[in-house]
Amino acid sequence: MHEFYRRGSLCAMKTPNFYASGGIDRAAHLRSDEQWIKAQIDDQVARVVPVWRSQNLVRPGDPPGGVAVDASRGLLMGAGSVVFLGLIEEVAHFAADFSAYDEPPLEEHGQFRDMRGVGQLLSHQEGALLVYARATIQWHARHQFCGVCGNATISQDSGHMRKCTNADCATQHFPRLDPAVIMLIHDGGDRLILGRQKNWPPGQHSVLAGFVEPGESLEDAVAREIFEEVGVEITDIHYHSSQPWPFPSSIMLGYTARTSDTTLNVARDELEDARWFTRDELLNSPENDSFRLPRRDSISRRLIDDWMNA
Ligand SMILES: [Zn+2]
Repeated sequence: MHEFYRRGSLCAMKTPNFYASGGIDRAAHLRSDEQWIKAQIDDQVARVVPVWRSQNLVRPGDPPGGVAVDASRGLLMGAGSVVFLGLIEEVAHFAADFSAYDEPPLEEHGQFRDMRGVGQLLSHQEGALLVYARATIQWHARHQFCGVCGNATISQDSGHMRKCTNADCATQHFPRLDPAVIMLIHDGGDRLILGRQKNWPPGQHSVLAGFVEPGESLEDAVAREIFEEVGVEITDIHYHSSQPWPFPSSIMLGYTARTSDTTLNVARDELEDARWFTRDELLNSPENDSFRLPRRDSISRRLIDDWMNA
């Protein structure tokens, strides 16, 4: 299983999920080295990954390219939160928040786009870097105040922690992740369950998913979500892989499981529809407004593709 295993590219899969294992060395030991961090910016050897109102800077074109611009103190003076992301080929990369600008800045470098629209068009490495930047900047924007006492928080450890400014509180806040399970349910043979939500693009179907609740194991969450959404009992729960999905802060934990219940009881308040599909139906997917598979950058698509090719 372990095809490659090195810092920044830790992955047990031949092809990592999109947005994962992007090849960045997070170099956590450097986060608290203020002199080193300052020198990277002062010497203008670093690169900045800009974020403006949850959008990432990309070069226009076909395919578009993810953009990192050369850092300088002048550039970063205009930024809000700045986060040391890590090293790529020994070059420091920083995420920087330019959301305070009324109009999108840095237009000479590219245009700001929502990763949910262009992410799957980028290279694997660029996609991973840009969602990492987006996720960290969004976390800072949403955690300006302490959840314990309500006072302001300040960024520390080069943007990897926020600390409450109230000396009597001084609570440390770390970046938030919302774990969600996503699971392909099959019948042990030729069929699997796909569903869709009303607000998805026309025809879009996916394997089922839901957030993990406090006091649950991941396996508990898989079984509960499936029973809640389609009313079947499952066995043979197996972990598949995971994927960062920072829209805004999820980590998707992928599973497969089997059911011998053939009749679905679909929770219509959660799903517009869910039913069994055969391999042949998916192989001959029309990919139009009547039915389309999940987007190619999603772990949902990866679970389906791997099941199809098993
Ligand atoms: Zn506090």
